[in-house]
Amino acid sequence: MCTKCKSENRVKSGFHRGKQRYLCKNCGCNYVKNPCKGYYEKEK
Ligand SMILES: [Zn+2]
Repeated sequence: MCTKCKSENRVKSGFHRGKQRYLCKNCGCNYVKNPCKGYYEKEK
């Protein structure tokens, strides 16, 4: 689930630090699945 817009409309976007990264198709942000902290990684 997207940490920004809470959308489940996402596609796999590779891996970041060994975790599955997703690209949200709703708002376009990248985030890493991490239910503990809701962490997401910004594109540089
Ligand atoms: Zn989103």
